[in-house]
Amino acid sequence: MNLSTLNFAPAVPIPDHLVGEVQSKLAYVDERIASAQISPAGEQISIDLKQPVAESERSAIEEKVQRVVVSMAKGAIRPKVQVLEDYLDRSTPFVGDPMPELMQRGEIHREADGIYTLGPLLTRLIDWFERRFLDLADSFSAKPYRFPTLIPARYLERVGYFRAFPHSLSFATHLRSDLDQIDAFAEGAACDNHDNLNVPPERFAPIQTLLSPAVCYHLYFTLADQLLPPQGVVATAVGNCFRYESLNLNSLERLWNFTMREVIFVGAKEFVLENRELARQRMQRVFEEIGFAYRVESANDPFFIGEFRKQAAFQSAFQLKYEIRARLPFKDGTLAVGSYNYHQDFFGRHLNIQLPDGSAAHTGCVAFGLERIAFAFLAQFGFDANQWPLSMQEILQ
Ligand code: ATP
Ligand code: ZN
Repeated sequence: MNLSTLNFAPAVPIPDHLVGEVQSKLAYVDERIASAQISPAGEQISIDLKQPVAESERSAIEEKVQRVVVSMAKGAIRPKVQVLEDYLDRSTPFVGDPMPELMQRGEIHREADGIYTLGPLLTRLIDWFERRFLDLADSFSAKPYRFPTLIPARYLERVGYFRAFPHSLSFATHLRSDLDQIDAFAEGAACDNHDNLNVPPERFAPIQTLLSPAVCYHLYFTLADQLLPPQGVVATAVGNCFRYESLNLNSLERLWNFTMREVIFVGAKEFVLENRELARQRMQRVFEEIGFAYRVESANDPFFIGEFRKQAAFQSAFQLKYEIRARLPFKDGTLAVGSYNYHQDFFGRHLNIQLPDGSAAHTGCVAFGLERIAFAFLAQFGFDANQWPLSMQEILQ
């Protein structure tokens, strides 16, 4: 028997619509897991371990996997997927995987899992999309903002982030302000063979700060405990976002450190919903102009195991999230390159953002993943400028 693989049936059937979601969570089950697959119909789980482990330990890992399965799949109801736009079958000229070519051209440099530098082609492509997103923001007279990359733990606590997305948090700390600690660090700090920095945890200050997981939260905290102007607030910002995706970090599709452009609406319910819808229609024209192959469909956020079923059902029932899913021809799949989100009065209530009538403000945002949109574009159009939409060919000159 091969002691470094585990194959077993799930304790409850995993409906096919949850296979991807459950599989992505298996990356967080045990540090000894190297990869985890669930068969497409959800009836078989196979786990590869980094090294052989004893039988009792194998059972312990299996038990943890089953906990995830039961928590996410038991009693799950298939959400009705609502499709608002479907241009997935637009024909596009390229079918290859852009990653090898990007590597070979030196266009990307992998610093670590999920951490990449981008070269001129990707940067110019992102700038091109950024101009379209800024036009979108201008069409709403959005005010520009710049937000920090760090976010206080206290803020995320206040909006329930720790319970909803604990697995993807990234923490920021610094050495204690103590000369002995700083001297000892400066003398001895070095990385081991696993790239781990050899610092005793007690040398670090207590954690008060994290790396920000989203852009729009900063605006809501800016508006906390305030009365909104009658016309509401529309803002736009681009920022670094951090989501630790464990074994799922691969290529430009899933990064630890990525950038998001958001257009954010704060005001009355109708104001937010109407603007979210207008933004979708305006982006539809941009995507049509370049012949992008994509679909806009209802979706849910990647809540952690215990929270997933309840929160995902809530999001579906109230149509809170729609994703722009671009086609990736090389894997016959799709990738979310952006989302149209409505949070109801969640932030308004938790942060005391008031409408002129004293009720809690509603919020919504349109968010684009910049690395992903450039990656999906290259996956559909390749590297030959002659095959690109005319309006984009200048990028390659
Ligand atoms: P909400 O305000 O509802 O929390 P959000 O503003 O956080 O939503 P998401 O839908 O979570 O927005 O993310 C927006 C986009 O950011 C995604 O569609 C995707 O393109 C990009 N994105 C998210 N996670 C990653 C990642 N790990 N790597 C690269 N891009 C990502
Ligand atoms: Zn947002």
